[in-house]
Amino acid sequence: MNLYDFIRDISDFPKEGILFKDITPLLLDTKAFETACIQLLEMVPTPIDKVVAMESRGFFFGTHLAQSLNAGFVPVRKPGKLPAEKISNTYDLEYGTDTLEMHKDAIQKGDRVLVHDDVLATGGTAKATCEIIESLGGTVVQCNFLMELEFLNGKNKLSNYPIKALLKY
Ligand code: AMP
Repeated sequence: MNLYDFIRDISDFPKEGILFKDITPLLLDTKAFETACIQLLEMVPTPIDKVVAMESRGFFFGTHLAQSLNAGFVPVRKPGKLPAEKISNTYDLEYGTDTLEMHKDAIQKGDRVLVHDDVLATGGTAKATCEIIESLGGTVVQCNFLMELEFLNGKNKLSNYPIKALLKY
């Protein structure tokens, strides 16, 4: 099974000049979804205490990975979505800034943490997430992606962490 067949390119979404990698065909196909989960799991160094995934497309595979790794799942969300005490990190985009939030009690000191998202692009989102985890005393064991857009060099921003991606563009 070729997982690349289940990633759909959408031009100029969400804005002009962006080639959006749409994972909904992969989510629709049970066999493809299962294959992606198995292959993602094979990349992960165990044991893992927590899987941290970013809103919102990171949640699809993130919860599944957490369950399979017998690890807790931690959502990272956009501002104002999480109800309990939280920690925020604001990071630079090409134009402007963005902010991510995580519940403070989601990570305990010494936790071995897997970070997961669907796409590694410039790496800003993953880096901001890793910084939150580390500020709470967790160790980022791996940043794990379904896809890496290699031409954007997101790896450079994440040079402190092991990076794995299933599909490369
Ligand atoms: P970045 O912080 O630049 O690495 O961007 C990563 C976040 O943006 C991820 O949560 C992705 O879901 C999303 N993203 C960035 N570029 C794309 C793309 N070309 N197609 C789909 N999602 C993308």
